[in-house]
Amino acid sequence: MMRPDNAPPSHLSRSLAEVDPPVRAALDSEADRQYAQIELIASENIMSRAVLEALGHEIGNKTLEGYPENRFHGGGEYVDVVERLAIERTKELFGATYANVQPHSGTQANQAVFFVLLRPGDRILSLDLAAGGHLSHGAGANLSGRWFDSHHYGVDRASGLLDYDAIETRAREVRPALLIAGGSAYPRVIDFERMARIAEAVEARLLVDMAHIAGLVAADVHPSPLPHADIVTCTTTKTLRGPRGGVILAQSDEFAKRLQSAVFPGVQGSLHPNVLAAKAVCLGEALRPEFRVYGQRVVQNARVLAATLADRGIGIVGGGTDTHMVLLDLASVGLLGQQAETVLAKAGITSNKNPVPFDARSPSKWTGLRLGVSAVTTRGLAPSDMEVLGACIADLLHGESRSDPGPALAQAEPIITRLAQSVDWYDTA
Ligand SMILES: *Cc1c(COP(=O)(O)O)cnc(C)c1O
Repeated sequence: MMRPDNAPPSHLSRSLAEVDPPVRAALDSEADRQYAQIELIASENIMSRAVLEALGHEIGNKTLEGYPENRFHGGGEYVDVVERLAIERTKELFGATYANVQPHSGTQANQAVFFVLLRPGDRILSLDLAAGGHLSHGAGANLSGRWFDSHHYGVDRASGLLDYDAIETRAREVRPALLIAGGSAYPRVIDFERMARIAEAVEARLLVDMAHIAGLVAADVHPSPLPHADIVTCTTTKTLRGPRGGVILAQSDEFAKRLQSAVFPGVQGSLHPNVLAAKAVCLGEALRPEFRVYGQRVVQNARVLAATLADRGIGIVGGGTDTHMVLLDLASVGLLGQQAETVLAKAGITSNKNPVPFDARSPSKWTGLRLGVSAVTTRGLAPSDMEVLGACIADLLHGESRSDPGPALAQAEPIITRLAQSVDWYDTA
């Protein structure tokens, strides 16, 4: 049934500007900020208008629990369509036989996996936070670190790379029930096959959390963990260019039934239908040939940025990058992460301080800066732009290191402004 054209105006139809000026103003300012700045936070990207339309749709009014055709509430037929599309597209994109698209976040996707594979007190072994691990993999401040007996492996001090022999030794000592691969600040390819052999040797299960690199795996520019892991988790945010939310997938149905009930009712209640719709749209976008080109361009851009910075004397953790991410070791210029983040921000470049391997625990003492090129590549920046950007960043860091960032700032600001204004953004019409 359609609403007639001459239906009376409804209180539901008032615009945000009319109903809530302060929120409208903050949103407008945020959009301007995103347009004007060069976004180099590695976990960020830019959703298409199509994804945003789905995310803001009134399908979000719908309450549903359960899975397609097996819901606890009526009226779910269109959400079923959307959820099935998201599931089918996830399977196709990653060659999975199992997919659950309901997790509200990457952290909750991991929680659901723990719910299936672990009991409280069980041992887990994951990448150390300072070496690029994630909070939800057993950090002390996270529920995963409180409820499980959590141990970590690191990277090789000299190379910054995963040392698989050392990980195997650690796994034989710890004898974990679950080995976790993947992280938030590891810029090189992870040998998932080797990680699977280590897990097998100690009779552990292997979870690969590919949150950061899912888009690169989808674009076929990074090896897939699917053939090797028992279970894989990811987000549709970050390199996949979709809404904030998690996905669980596997190339076998061994845990399928238990994962279904671990997500709901295990760790979540009702699903977020608008987010499922937005996930379906971003997965559909990732299935198109253009997305492969995007993935190739991301890796190319990151490599050029890393090489440009290295040429100018900036230390690069891991000696380079195979992903969207470049991790700077600021000991090379005698700076703290916070100082670097601040001076870049003054020039219009957004980034985040980060620990480097073996760094201090306190964020105020971190000596790394994490850069990622997913968002700027979405906006159309090319490798030649990365050379310009890399030179600006190096000059800013060297200037700050001499306590004289003024000249570098004066030079960088107009370049950054021009760069931001020259590339793609949403049409305002
Ligand atoms: C970003 C990220 C997540 C996602 O966490 P959210 O809860 O969605 O913020 C999970 N795992 C890793 C390794 C990540 O980098």
